[in-house]
Amino acid sequence: MDAQSKQEKQAQLAAIAREIAACRKCALCHSRSRTVPGAGPADAKIMFIGEAPGFHEDQQGLPFVGRSGQYLNHLLATVGLRREDVFIANVVKCRPPENRDPLPEELAACQDYLDRQIAVINPEVIITLGRFSMARYFPGARITQIHGQGRRKDGRLYFPMYHPAAALRNPAMQPEMEADIKRVIALMNTAAATDDDEENDQPPVQLRLF
Ligand code: SF4
Repeated sequence: MDAQSKQEKQAQLAAIAREIAACRKCALCHSRSRTVPGAGPADAKIMFIGEAPGFHEDQQGLPFVGRSGQYLNHLLATVGLRREDVFIANVVKCRPPENRDPLPEELAACQDYLDRQIAVINPEVIITLGRFSMARYFPGARITQIHGQGRRKDGRLYFPMYHPAAALRNPAMQPEMEADIKRVIALMNTAAATDDDEENDQPPVQLRLF
């Protein structure tokens, strides 16, 4: 049982969001319209971590509200989940100009905010969307090789998936995306993910439950 109440967690997340709104730790503060700290219930069991806000996210201050967000909603619906069931954040909280990839110094400057959000929410599962969030938990891995493979560490399941935008650009990836999200929910439900706490140097084992 989590020691903190949902209200306490919400207050802590709101305090982090206020810090982000005032943040000028990297150059992305100059081009952003709004910061995008993340959204969802403070006691979410599942946390999605994407890359960076895009145009619509920058305008609205909310994550995954454009076409990628609509596709993410579709994926959630395939496993009976709604947006309000999960917390969604990005590795950087401000939009890079022209949606370019975030730079290493921007990722480093922003890392503390996401780490603190994760510490507050304490989700059972972290689903990474795309290369940049995957790299935090699976350094050196290639997403084409490890997407859909769960790794359990310190009691939490880490699960890499492609970014929804990639599946929109390449619809042939969509069946894999849908299989992956079904797999992670199955892993949650069966607690059958490989526990590699003592074997962190080993590649994750792919579990095919669907
Ligand atoms: S991207 Fe992160 S570190 Fe950079 S200004 Fe925005 S909130 Fe601050």
